[in-house]
Amino acid sequence: MDLREFSIKSLREELAAGRLKASDVCRTALERMQQLADLNAVLTVMSDSALARADELDLAAQRGDSLPPLAGTMLAVKDVIVIEGTRATGGSRILYNYIPPYTATAVKKLEAAGAIVVGKTNCDEFAMGSSTENSAYGTVKNPWDTARVPGGSSGGSAVVVSAGMTTASLGSDTGGSIRQPAGFCGVVGLKPTYGRVSRYGLMSYGSSLDHIGPFANRVEDAAEILKAIAGHDPCDSTSSRVPVPDYVALLQEELRGLKVGVPREYFGEGLDPEVKTRVEAAINKFEELGAGIIDISLPHTEYAVPVYYLIATAEASSNLARYDGVRYGFRAETGSSLREMYCRTRDEGFGAEVKRRIMLGTYALSAGYYDQYYGKAQKVRSLIDKDFREAFSLCDIIATPVAPTTAFEIGELIDDPLKMYLQDIYTVTVNLAGVPAIVLPCGASTAGLPIGIQLIGPHFEEARLLTAAHNLERVIGFNQRPSAIGKVS
Ligand code: GLN
Repeated sequence: MDLREFSIKSLREELAAGRLKASDVCRTALERMQQLADLNAVLTVMSDSALARADELDLAAQRGDSLPPLAGTMLAVKDVIVIEGTRATGGSRILYNYIPPYTATAVKKLEAAGAIVVGKTNCDEFAMGSSTENSAYGTVKNPWDTARVPGGSSGGSAVVVSAGMTTASLGSDTGGSIRQPAGFCGVVGLKPTYGRVSRYGLMSYGSSLDHIGPFANRVEDAAEILKAIAGHDPCDSTSSRVPVPDYVALLQEELRGLKVGVPREYFGEGLDPEVKTRVEAAINKFEELGAGIIDISLPHTEYAVPVYYLIATAEASSNLARYDGVRYGFRAETGSSLREMYCRTRDEGFGAEVKRRIMLGTYALSAGYYDQYYGKAQKVRSLIDKDFREAFSLCDIIATPVAPTTAFEIGELIDDPLKMYLQDIYTVTVNLAGVPAIVLPCGASTAGLPIGIQLIGPHFEEARLLTAAHNLERVIGFNQRPSAIGKVS
């Protein structure tokens, strides 16, 4: 059984008809995770709890009970999202032994809708990175070419879906961490509007930029997952009360008359010519669907990477202050004073990239520099937000590349943080404005690596994005599978 061949809807229908058993689907997921352990995508396998839940579902199906919408869906969850009683490292040594006492709202909702969590996925430490090379638990390999990165920071969550270990997964996206790995691994990834999905139970990185969202093998499945996780949550004061539409039912709408904006700033210098060609070809396909294409401008794009790295690091330096060895997680062995214990714990517990960001963020927030850096960055952030508002007065959705290149080699950028940060050039703007965006595969390079296209919508217009992506997916007809998995012993 290849999990990638089963949509969420088909799993539910097969289970209800008695043609498939949840326990068999679950065993397939567990075996595949074991077979492909060398990809290092999974940090914790949850066999016992998953099989027990699968048995419960099978009993319910046998009794003829009506099955929940995600019955049969095998799910993996990024390790920065907590599940009660299951170790959550956040990709960091400082949480190597942390067992959370509560479950994230998004996971609770998915479980209530019938999904079965089979594992926790590897990621960059505290979601800081674009390659998953910053995990304290080793690099994740791209199933399309195991010498290459899967993207980051939700690399493990992209890989499990791409390689058929699970039906879907959850990731987090602060500056592109769902969309860039989705692009690098040839799967669908969705970052909802800020506030659409509760962040309760997500380890905070940059709280004003953090989002939870799904990875899936088809747009329809991403719509099913979003439908289950969206909505207000009293545990997250930034979650929105805007009503949640039926994303799945709306997928069939037509695109006739839709205006697709193409921002010129996203197709300039630094964009790999092959990526450019593929993305432009995919955009032209919108015309076959009756949509119109117009040129637009997002003039403050060039400031997005510096603004993002000021705001994200400033918020991170404050959010990460809680890891001090006192209440939970790793504590350094020695230390003659409390201060020394804090220092050693943080020195030994955090990796190099996290330390770099804490220092950058602390500097940007320090007295005397605050207005010059953090204050200024906030002002430019509002200009970027204004760019999007103006653009959406001219068009309905915006289409762009996801990243400047296809998946790069492991080790290629790790010693050059600036180059690594430039990976995020087309994704961070979207987090700064809080608007939703979806990524889907639109082709492959001559080297056989997937290329993604990003569609961006106005606040709370996920339905419009999903419908556009679903129609585009059909006309693109991308059906290649990762070829390198055989090479993994
Ligand atoms: N690559 C970006 C960073 O390193 C984005 C990470 C994310 O979205 N979590 O901050």
